[in-house]
Amino acid sequence: MNDKAIRLTGLSREEITQLLAQWDEKPFRAKQLWSWLYVKLAGEVGEMTDLSKLFRAKLEACCQPLRPTVQSQQLSSDGTIKWLLSFTDNQQVETVYIPEEERGTLCISSQVGCSLSCPFCHTGTQKLARNLTTSEIVEQVTFARAQVEAGGQRLTNIVLMGMGEPLYNYDAVVKAVRIILDGSGLAIGTRKITLSTSGIVPKMVQAGYDLGINLAISLHSVRDEVRDVLVPINKKYNLSALRQGALAYPLKSNRSITWEYVMLEGVNDSLEDAQGLVRYLSGIPSKVNLIPFNPWPGTPYRPSSAQTIKQFQDWVGKTGLVTVIRERRGEDIQAACGQLKGSRL
Ligand code: SAH
Ligand code: SF4
Repeated sequence: MNDKAIRLTGLSREEITQLLAQWDEKPFRAKQLWSWLYVKLAGEVGEMTDLSKLFRAKLEACCQPLRPTVQSQQLSSDGTIKWLLSFTDNQQVETVYIPEEERGTLCISSQVGCSLSCPFCHTGTQKLARNLTTSEIVEQVTFARAQVEAGGQRLTNIVLMGMGEPLYNYDAVVKAVRIILDGSGLAIGTRKITLSTSGIVPKMVQAGYDLGINLAISLHSVRDEVRDVLVPINKKYNLSALRQGALAYPLKSNRSITWEYVMLEGVNDSLEDAQGLVRYLSGIPSKVNLIPFNPWPGTPYRPSSAQTIKQFQDWVGKTGLVTVIRERRGEDIQAACGQLKGSRL
């Protein structure tokens, strides 16, 4: 076995069991290790005090650190925390914690950069460097939960809305979400996890069956010629295919699909756009999330005014569609939607 070849966080229960069997450790050790990783959220092997010294020494010799390195931590005036985390090859991603009255939501990344280049998104200006591994996805959660719980706060919800297109890193994301869901570990339930996609239709439906979590779709326009520009994957999976995919998504009872709609002045914020949106969503259990555009240095787009967004919400909302305006969080630390851009290029 290679020196330090194993990354423990991100191993499934079966993998931990197999590893320990290979090492001739007693089966109950698997349960202990699982619990240290995902319940007690140990930051290092040294904390796992009910494991024998010998076993800990073996783990320390063979395993990589349990946590990413924190390159920086920024605290917003509204309580939002943004971490810049780096992994063993120095690739970096951002992870954001958003505290609210009733819950605490962690926005996690799935890739370093993104291959899709949506022109209004800051992450999209950064080429895809690589996919994150399952370990790196789960470690964002174990790290952040340990951190916020130590400060007396809670981490109850996860959104896969950070850097990257989660469905283009399908296997690692599915495995990570399964670990996060496990009821005897991190135990964050299907209704508390939301995956956001730009609309990779076949994978989106498959994810519904594989994971049963909430789905958010980045719509942004219901006109193909506009969406082709804003969300270039539309050229492959156009609005009609996306609608079919949404209809095929296995929704849990009383749940709906969240449609993300970033409000760009003069691009997608007219009365005709609102009417088109309502027509497009008819027959799909839907909730519309209007996202005020978060500008970043060099962006060619301008945010719709607060008045225009409110007006748009009224147009759409009066048809009975649930429509919320997403609150801007962490704006002062560039932690809001679409402002994430990990590595310092
Ligand atoms: N790649 C996935 C998930 C990450 S992006 C996706 O596209 O859905 C998460 C959300 O932030 C998406 O709805 C995206 O369209 C939105 N977003 C990106 N840039 C933004 C910006 N500058 N202002 C507001 N929202 C933005
Ligand atoms: Fe990638 Fe999503 Fe940004 Fe588009 S909006 S570039 S899919 S992260």
